[in-house]
Amino acid sequence: MDTMQLYNSLTREKEPFKTHEPGKVSMYTCGPTVYHFAHIGNLRSYIMEDVLEKALRWEGYDVKRVMNITDVGHLSSDADTGEDKMVKGAKRENKTVMDIAKFYTDAFFADCEKLNIKYPDVVQPATGMIEEYIKTITKLMDTGYAYFAGGNVYFDTSKLKKYYVFNDHDAEDLQSGVREGVEEDPNKKNKNDFVLWFTKSKFEDQALKWDSPWGVGYPGWHIECSCISMKYLGEYLDIHCGGIDNAFPHHTNEIAQSEAYLGHPWCSHWFHIRHLNTNSGKMSKSKGEFLTVSLLEEKGYEPLVYRLFCLQSHYRRALVFSWENLDNAKAAYDKLIARVGAITDEGEKDETAMKPYREQFQTALDNDLNTSLAVTALYDVLKSDLNGASKRALIASFDEVLGLELIPQAMARKEKESAAPAGEDTAGIEALIKARAEAKAAKNWAEADRIRDELKAQGIELIDTKEGTTWKRA
Ligand code: AMP
Ligand code: ZN
Repeated sequence: MDTMQLYNSLTREKEPFKTHEPGKVSMYTCGPTVYHFAHIGNLRSYIMEDVLEKALRWEGYDVKRVMNITDVGHLSSDADTGEDKMVKGAKRENKTVMDIAKFYTDAFFADCEKLNIKYPDVVQPATGMIEEYIKTITKLMDTGYAYFAGGNVYFDTSKLKKYYVFNDHDAEDLQSGVREGVEEDPNKKNKNDFVLWFTKSKFEDQALKWDSPWGVGYPGWHIECSCISMKYLGEYLDIHCGGIDNAFPHHTNEIAQSEAYLGHPWCSHWFHIRHLNTNSGKMSKSKGEFLTVSLLEEKGYEPLVYRLFCLQSHYRRALVFSWENLDNAKAAYDKLIARVGAITDEGEKDETAMKPYREQFQTALDNDLNTSLAVTALYDVLKSDLNGASKRALIASFDEVLGLELIPQAMARKEKESAAPAGEDTAGIEALIKARAEAKAAKNWAEADRIRDELKAQGIELIDTKEGTTWKRA
């Protein structure tokens, strides 16, 4: 423990990762805005945050991770203009905002499960915290950090010693998080003041509204994350994560209001993931054209292939997606699994011989979460002359962080291969397995059991695993 060097966006340096309480990490992640499916760019951020969490756990920290679900208040521009994204999503699909929120929250976590991203210890939808926002905003009003103008409550950025915390560029350069062509809000005293509570916006059809001391309205996006983090993780946050686009204005505003509220520094470490881009630019939900995990699956890629694709490059470098690059990751993943599957069970674990490989792996993680070097450590184990038991133990250990499911996948594939006598046409069996999976998804248990019995009568035994169902001859 205490050996990890991580880049901190706040200090713009790689530095030893320190926690407020020894051995414990409080970690906050900006969750998805649930008005559409997550695209694989969003999921790059969540995969790398998952690897960070697992690396910290692997090194012995007790991690508590909290994530919000943005189901209100995130406007089309990350600043305070445009329509609420949730309302836009509801209109697009002719459903209520809450229906949309539930559907896309479930879809998000289903994608996470496929990518082996751990479910956070706490997941808090923004709509469930209205009282906390009101309490925090009331204190900001009472202490002069917030003001009421034109029906909305704004944070007064001029009250801070330093507002632009993430870099030294001048104010103009920092407008990248704000879309071009956005109208100025005449109620703001300073250009970067931001809304804490809306009662008036151009869009009168905001679906969800709550009573407040300032009138019926809804919270701004930024206050959500500050309040959710402080409620579950207290006054001192060890690490806050998100995609790089969140650094400004979202995280900058989170820091402004949290520190003004608390009266002391709040979060010591900021972990930002660069974007996944396509050749035509950044992948974005609002453009409506984006790649999802389901699409990758339809095209025949296992989701974990995409996880490996992400691990092969560093989180602080922009990553360009192309089908060719994904094909390379697929080939690498298939080969890895075949190699893991080929490890024999001979020997006893030899801890002394294993030690340098563990150290190599840890050094990679400690070097600003260098996942591609961590994957190299895995290849080095496979290439080594360690006995089978030691190799398997190291691979299982590394995979606690990498999350590639190497041993279970290798076992599932081997069982599949040994199940089919050479030349046997297995298409009929596979079709029945698929039909059973569909019956189970539709909660038609009787039909699922009938199919299992039909296969049993043919001498086929089904094995249900996390990765899906395989079979063998009974
Ligand atoms: P959103 O659902 O839009 O609130 O975004 C969810 C997360 O994905 C945030 O942490 C964003 O910073 C991150 N994100 C958005 N676009 C990308 C991208 N193209 N590549 C990587 N992360 C992204
Ligand atoms: Zn946030």
